[in-house]
Amino acid sequence: MPAPFDTGTSHDRHGRYPEAITVEDFQHNLAAVRARIEASCQRVGRDPAGVRLLPVSKTKPEASLRMAHAAGCRMLGENRVQEAHLKWQAMQDLADLRWSVIGHLQTNKARYVARFAAEFQALDSLHLAAALDRRLQIEGRSLDVFVQVNTSGEASKYGLAPEEVAGFVQALPAFSALRVRGLMTLALFSSEAARVRQCFVLLRTLRDRLRQSAPAGIALDELSMGMSDDFEIAIEEGASVVRIGQAIFGARTLPDSHYWPGEVPDAPA
Ligand SMILES: *Cc1c(COP(=O)(O)O)cnc(C)c1O
Repeated sequence: MPAPFDTGTSHDRHGRYPEAITVEDFQHNLAAVRARIEASCQRVGRDPAGVRLLPVSKTKPEASLRMAHAAGCRMLGENRVQEAHLKWQAMQDLADLRWSVIGHLQTNKARYVARFAAEFQALDSLHLAAALDRRLQIEGRSLDVFVQVNTSGEASKYGLAPEEVAGFVQALPAFSALRVRGLMTLALFSSEAARVRQCFVLLRTLRDRLRQSAPAGIALDELSMGMSDDFEIAIEEGASVVRIGQAIFGARTLPDSHYWPGEVPDAPA
C-alpha cells in the first residue's frame, strides 16, 4: 500500500513486527533481538554483556506484560507515567518486576515516578530534578536517572540541547536521591542510517567529554540509545542500554505521534 509520505522506518512496522501473543512468542522475539545485539557487538569488538536490553511495553495490555515477565523480562520501560503507575499497581504480585520510565515527565507528576520507578531516563530540567528529589526523600527511595539529550535538533524532541548538558550535570549533586547513570537520546526518525548514526555519535562524544569534568558522584557510564529500528547502529556507536518495544511486543496500533506529541504522524497502517 503506498504511503502518502515516507516517515522513514515506521510505515511497514505491522508487517515486520507481528503481535506477540504467547510466552513462546516473547521468548522467540527476545532471543532474536539478543542475537542481533550480539552480532552488532561482534562487528565492533564489544562484549554483549555491556549492552542491557530494556523491553518497552507502552500501550500493551497487562496480559502481554505478564507474558513478557514469564519469558524472563524483569524490567519494563514505559513512556507515560500514569500508564506505568496503573500497570505497576495491577502487577504488585510480580515482586521482582521493576519499572523504567523513559518518557517526558511533567513536574507535577514527579510523585508517581518517585513512588514506584527504579529508573527514569528522561531527566531534562533542574525543576524536575528538584521535584523528583523532594518526592524521593519523602518516600525514602532513590532513583537511577539518565539525562535526556536532544541529539537530532528537532523541535519536537524533548531533552537538553547538547551544549546545555555540561552545566546541567554540574548542578545534579544537589539532588542526593538521584543516582545519575548517564545520557539518553532518541535519534532522528529517518531511513538514512548515516543521519541516525550522527545522533548516536553525538551522544557518545558528549559523554566522553563530560566524563572528564563531571562532579564527584556523577557517573556518566551509560548511554541509553537505540530502539527497534535503529538499535544495531546505536550499539555500534557505544549504546549500553537499548530500549526495544515493537521488536519484542509487536507493532503498536497507534502512530508514534500519539506518544510523542508534535511528532510527524505515521502513514496509516
Ligand atoms: C516507545 C519508545 C521506545 C521503543 O520504541 P520501539 O520502536 O517500540 O522499539 C524507546 N524509547 C522511547 C523513549 C520510547 O518512547
